[in-house]
Amino acid sequence: MKVDKVKNKIEKLRSEVKKHNDLYYKKSQSEISDFEFDRMLKNLEELEEQYPQFKESASPTDFVGSDISSDSSIITLNTPMYSLDKAFSMEEVENFFSKVKEKETGNMPFTCELKLDGFSVNLYYDNGELIYATTRGDGIVGEDITENIKTIPSIPLKISHKTPIEVRGEIILNIDEFDRINKERESNGEKVFANPRNAAAGSIKLKDPARVKARKLDYKIYSVGLFEESSVDSQYKLLEYLRNLGFKIVEHYYSDNVADLIEQCKIWDKGRDDLNYMVDGLVFKVSHFSIQDKIGHTSKFPKWAVAYKFKAKEAETKLLSVDFQVGRTGAVTPVAKLNPVYLAGTTVSRATLHNANEIKRLGLKEGDYVRLIKSGEIVPKIIGVNLDRRSENAKSIIFPESCPVCSTQLISLDNGSKSYCDNLNCPAQILRRIEHFASRDTVGIRGLGESVIQQLLDNNMIEKIEDIYSIDYEKFASLPHQGKRSAEKLQKAVEVSKTQKLGKLIAGLGIRFVGLNTAKILTDSYSDIDSLMKATSADLFAIDKIGEKTADAVVEFFSNKENILMIKSLKKSGVVFNKIESKMSGKLTGMSFVVTGKIENYTRKELNDLIEDNGGKVSSTVSSKLDYLLAGENAGSKLEKARKFNTIKIISGQDFFDKIR
Ligand code: AMP
Ligand code: ZN
Repeated sequence: MKVDKVKNKIEKLRSEVKKHNDLYYKKSQSEISDFEFDRMLKNLEELEEQYPQFKESASPTDFVGSDISSDSSIITLNTPMYSLDKAFSMEEVENFFSKVKEKETGNMPFTCELKLDGFSVNLYYDNGELIYATTRGDGIVGEDITENIKTIPSIPLKISHKTPIEVRGEIILNIDEFDRINKERESNGEKVFANPRNAAAGSIKLKDPARVKARKLDYKIYSVGLFEESSVDSQYKLLEYLRNLGFKIVEHYYSDNVADLIEQCKIWDKGRDDLNYMVDGLVFKVSHFSIQDKIGHTSKFPKWAVAYKFKAKEAETKLLSVDFQVGRTGAVTPVAKLNPVYLAGTTVSRATLHNANEIKRLGLKEGDYVRLIKSGEIVPKIIGVNLDRRSENAKSIIFPESCPVCSTQLISLDNGSKSYCDNLNCPAQILRRIEHFASRDTVGIRGLGESVIQQLLDNNMIEKIEDIYSIDYEKFASLPHQGKRSAEKLQKAVEVSKTQKLGKLIAGLGIRFVGLNTAKILTDSYSDIDSLMKATSADLFAIDKIGEKTADAVVEFFSNKENILMIKSLKKSGVVFNKIESKMSGKLTGMSFVVTGKIENYTRKELNDLIEDNGGKVSSTVSSKLDYLLAGENAGSKLEKARKFNTIKIISGQDFFDKIR
């Protein structure tokens, strides 16, 4: 390469690495796969080594990317937290073993540990007590996250190791929890997390430990910083020692046979698909501390360890067309329709393209062959176009200027990163608004999902949210695929929803930025909708955790005439917008319930919520003090036990719904 070309390349790489570092650590976002990022960094490292004249003192290759946000309190670590050198192929792993073996002859065992794709933490204990917890920060100082760490129940607050110790590991979010959280966010109209790592990173930095707790984070430990214990002289023994102290330990393999160790790369490249958490590679570590010390560190990573990175699983497929979907707030999102292709465990036929800028960035045309990965191995993401396969008549993709459903001129915001249809009567928005109102995480009307709503709209039986409360059930029973039974069920569900909790009702209205969490915060200050409707922007902004954007959105929502009419109409239909009355319909006050067996399609949690929302008490055991056993299909031992007490009334789902109606 010509020298000035090298200089340009180095500068370009450096600014790219800086940009992605910031996105990743500070905003918990990623635009490129981790594999690509690590490759880029390694490339830069190699060029800087080859051309030291272009090395800068502040190159990102010298530092661990910092995760510290500007408004946090920081703690200096006792010993630095290093990064790891990377290997991108099995040959590079082999090179690592050969290099290490040059330094030491004789038997040399290694640990092979899963490389957890989470967020690293440092837990400091003294005198057997957890004193504080920090992030990795820049490797030297970390961000204080003690209170948030304490919400993870399996992290021991007390251990039997008495001298000061820094325990290090990764905070993770299990995949099933990740799915649950994203479903909830989606139905609240909140942005979904791209992958479990981003979700874990975003969660551990929340300012409210109660919200962190709801995320059900988990962790695994793989090393220590400050540590003294003469009986522990190797990584392998260390992991056992930490396990005995009560920590969850990273899954690992131990061997002195290099071929067996390398074989693990193949085994886990497949095996990782079966885990309930994300791993992005394997870490090989020389086990004996004495040999580790001999081999030593660079300023950034230990020379006695290497991280083998799994390749992101990639597929190539044809982009058939782009759909433009209109959400409940009117936001228009382009969605790629793809020729179905198998990728890392599922068949992918759609991928969001986010906005017009993303289409431009990718230079996408209809009919193109696109490269697809699963970002964070979960959400399909188009990362590029295979230009070699572009046909001459590939069509440009034109972002519509008017709403694809109602033809209203779209409004473009934030330099084209957002497009809105601002017609409140847009049929697409109406469908999504009603769907949102009825969804499980807001008002929760069972049986009123997308297809039923569409059917009601098509038959002119509803036009807006408030019409849900005046459905003609006789007519409904006569619609295709419906019947008397489904009409009765729907009617019951609609009836029950009238006394839903105030927070859930407010979340269901579809006020921009007001999901369930925010709605609950609002009901802490306003116990009925009338007082909330009177609140000014300043009143709302004064509430802790309510930002300016949200405050304005609430005021704007209630200054709209149609929204006021909607609330009036809902009230007239019997919807109770009052915390005291809605939470405690009072119908079950003073009564205790145990639920057993399956009751229609209700989950246990939904039933428990219904009982509590109506003032009843839920208990878990059958005893002489119990008032009601709500027994469904396949009720087991609890039903038998309850029969022995003649004071307990045994009721069916039907009896129960009659009571609260
Ligand atoms: P990187 O941040 O990509 O340079 O990789 C280094 C990071 O990998 C460490 O700071 C840890 O947070 C993380 N890591 C995950 N699993 C392990 C493990 N088993 N051993 C050491 N580090 C690990
Ligand atoms: Zn529209």
